[in-house]
Amino acid sequence: MKKISVFGATGSVGINTLNLLLLNKNLFKVVALTAYNDYKKLAKYAKLLNCNYAVIGNKKYYQSLKNELNGTKVNIIAGEEGLIEVAQLKTDIVVSAIVGIAGLKPTFETLGKTKVLAIANKESIISAGSFLLNAANKTKTNLLPLDSEHNAIFQIFKNEKREYIKDITLTASGGPFWKRHSTNFKKVTIKEALTHPNWKMGKKISVDSATMVNKVLETLEASILFNINIEKINILIHPSSIVHGIINYIDGTSHMIASLPDMKLPINYALNWPKRSSSCVKNLDLQKIQHLSFYKPDYNKFPSLKLKNIICNSKYKKSNIIVLNASNEVAVEYFLKNKIPFIDIVKNINKTIKLFKHINIKSINDVINVDKQARELVANIIEKRI
Ligand code: NDP
Ligand code: MG
Repeated sequence: MKKISVFGATGSVGINTLNLLLLNKNLFKVVALTAYNDYKKLAKYAKLLNCNYAVIGNKKYYQSLKNELNGTKVNIIAGEEGLIEVAQLKTDIVVSAIVGIAGLKPTFETLGKTKVLAIANKESIISAGSFLLNAANKTKTNLLPLDSEHNAIFQIFKNEKREYIKDITLTASGGPFWKRHSTNFKKVTIKEALTHPNWKMGKKISVDSATMVNKVLETLEASILFNINIEKINILIHPSSIVHGIINYIDGTSHMIASLPDMKLPINYALNWPKRSSSCVKNLDLQKIQHLSFYKPDYNKFPSLKLKNIICNSKYKKSNIIVLNASNEVAVEYFLKNKIPFIDIVKNINKTIKLFKHINIKSINDVINVDKQARELVANIIEKRI
């Protein structure tokens, strides 16, 4: 039996993972499940999967979780230190699916204690990229991306030499506003921004998809994970999200991965890697689909896409990336609280990157400090305007 822990178990990626585990109870022993607020969902799955530890990040809900799990053998822990504690337990696989930079410390802590780190938490990859990858290499931890585009590239990449790769294409559905006229962007409501056409995801990534900041994060994520220059990573609008990632080779051949848009596929791939097993998701029926369409992204309609160039041209790339990520997280929170309009998300990211006193990032502590300062700066910028 494979020992597994799931961080961010109550989220969209987390629940998809747990449902796959429920279908394969004889193959996996669940060590730890973690959540932040949702103690009820955590308790429900802790019981269903008979896990050893249930961790609630928000200490406020410790007693409530305890009550829910009364009479079971599940060990209950609370707080950030609880997340770190269970991250140190020996496992075969860890699913890192906490949203945002909050996932960084627990994810880092699992390196060397788990054999496979299946990582959805893209904010940690882009902010702490080289440190995370070096630590994974040093501790011989296999890093498997869960983000669908990166999982696709991972599946193709392993068979080929890097020198044969001309460039990489990540597809983008275009989000809920691909067809909306940009003059109407001012009126975007929270509900509209959260209604993704193809994927059912957590709130933060849904807003990121609507602004298309998600594709910028994903470009950086791919560049770090596959050690490819950012300039060699292209974005292509593909509204049906059937093709996920494409590698173009120097000889004119392209390899691409296609499937129905369902996160169970990349998660199931990681859970079974290097083997494959049924995920209960159907194969494509190409006769039924008939057409696949692809379009050039509109940089004027989605100014977030220009952030890629800002990063490419910056002297302090790593610092710029951390600031981009942190200011986006904070601006999205403000939008979700109805405190700033949709179009101000990207405006505030740009302002924060511009005003921040960037430094040379030399350590994981630098990452944490720059992230913290960027959060303070963007909050100040927003509050002053309110
Ligand atoms: P959700 O918002 O649905 O879930 C987030 C999870 O993290 C929940 O379990 C939540 O707990 C927990 N959490 C939130 N804040 C904290 C915190 N401060 N400390 C500890 N735990 C916390 O997110 P998604 O599942 O959509 O996304 C998770 C990650 O995966 C993100 O980085 C996202 O970009 C990435 N990703 C997601 C995809 C998707 O299809 N959803 C696709 C590709 C990547 P609680 O429920 O208690 O609040
Ligand atoms: Mg993705």
